[in-house]
Amino acid sequence: MNTGLFIFDTKARALKEVCAKNGFEVSIYCCGPTVYRDAHVGNLRTFLLGDLIKRTLTYSGYDSRLIQNITDVGHMAEDIAGNEIGEDKLLAQSKAEAIDPFEIARKYEANFHTDLAKLNVIPAAAYPRASETIDLMLKLIADLILSKHAYVGTDGCVYFSATSFESYGEISGNRLDSLKPGHRYDYFEDGAKHFHADWALWKAAENRTEMIWDSPWGPGFPGWHIECSAMSLELLEGNVDLHLGGIDLRFPHHENERAQSNSAVGYEVVENWVHGEHLLFEGRKMSKSAGNVVLLNDVIEKGFDPLALRLCFLENRYRSQMDLTWDSLRAADATLERWRKKLAQWQDQGDIDEQFVRDFCEGSLADIQQDLDTPRALQQLRKLEKDELISGATKLACFVSVDEIYGLEIARAPKVKAEATPEILDLLEKRKLARETKDFPASDNLRDQLLKLGISIKDSPAGQEWDWN
Ligand SMILES: [Zn+2]
Repeated sequence: MNTGLFIFDTKARALKEVCAKNGFEVSIYCCGPTVYRDAHVGNLRTFLLGDLIKRTLTYSGYDSRLIQNITDVGHMAEDIAGNEIGEDKLLAQSKAEAIDPFEIARKYEANFHTDLAKLNVIPAAAYPRASETIDLMLKLIADLILSKHAYVGTDGCVYFSATSFESYGEISGNRLDSLKPGHRYDYFEDGAKHFHADWALWKAAENRTEMIWDSPWGPGFPGWHIECSAMSLELLEGNVDLHLGGIDLRFPHHENERAQSNSAVGYEVVENWVHGEHLLFEGRKMSKSAGNVVLLNDVIEKGFDPLALRLCFLENRYRSQMDLTWDSLRAADATLERWRKKLAQWQDQGDIDEQFVRDFCEGSLADIQQDLDTPRALQQLRKLEKDELISGATKLACFVSVDEIYGLEIARAPKVKAEATPEILDLLEKRKLARETKDFPASDNLRDQLLKLGISIKDSPAGQEWDWN
């Protein structure tokens, strides 16, 4: 079943139409969070990509089924070459917070769902946890051993034999013959693997005592890549129309998943590999060491509507690297507020031109169906906002309709002044006093501070008046 939605497939390196192979719903798998910390705004950009696709399909009349995994075990730290080494991310965080690892996992999983709800993300059909899918993974690993795609190493770990999968590297272009062992390469597994690019499907527990399970190969825990194969094959019945993830997952995570899944079933499981690009913040890569990791809560604490983040992402193509800044968030927040005010005013202005609404909405959908060109569609929306020949009621109908794709809650009531935070009220009071004592430099400074918080001020003989930008 064709859907009219064309998206860039990383493997084919071309636009491909999204089709529901089963004839009734598009199956989508999106790599989810490793729940040892809060997702930052860059991670959220990928999760919102899934929501945008889902909403676009719904708007054009197609059902979809989205599965997003929760990695709560087995995701080890990585070295520069992408090899998994060192400690399990969850166990490391569990030590740092002195909390049971499963409690850590549930805490950050709950935060993940809260963030998605604040971003108005339509929930996935299921959020399977790795720790609760161990049986599926064991079955898959056993099958891969049987079909000689995997073997038990001398260290008791089970490895996937990379060379057993001929087309390894087709997504990322990292072919096996060009993959050289890194100098920090798996030193503790040295000699256990047949080939340097083989990766662990099951890791022997050795000294580890937490988050381990019994298996035919002894107690241990799964490697990170195998969960996505196990879950997508099971929950999407062996066929993934769209597989989503951040660009950094392209290699090795997605290459390994593809090798595992295809080897298990003997055909190409994923039709389209879709990758969201990197997000920079204020021109820099976000990293814990640089101390510039931004969470959704940071956006909210600055006084911005969380949906301003959503609008910022929509103003940029998912496939281009994007630089998010506080200024762009402020501008998006102001835009949302302006639209909400205008929608409230447009309500009683004239009649609805139904034909115009249909044409406009079809045009927006057509833009978005071309590799999710939301920037272009939003440009049309801004043009419509300013068009004085179109009645308010018609504009309102257009905004409300296309917002089913954008998910910006444009029809929500605008903010009321009473919602000003205590910080804003305090600054307003200080500025009032500064003006009364004719301390104009202080007054100007306070005006700038308020402006940064989204407040503009007008001075009149009656005193200062303020409003949201
Ligand atoms: Zn994955």
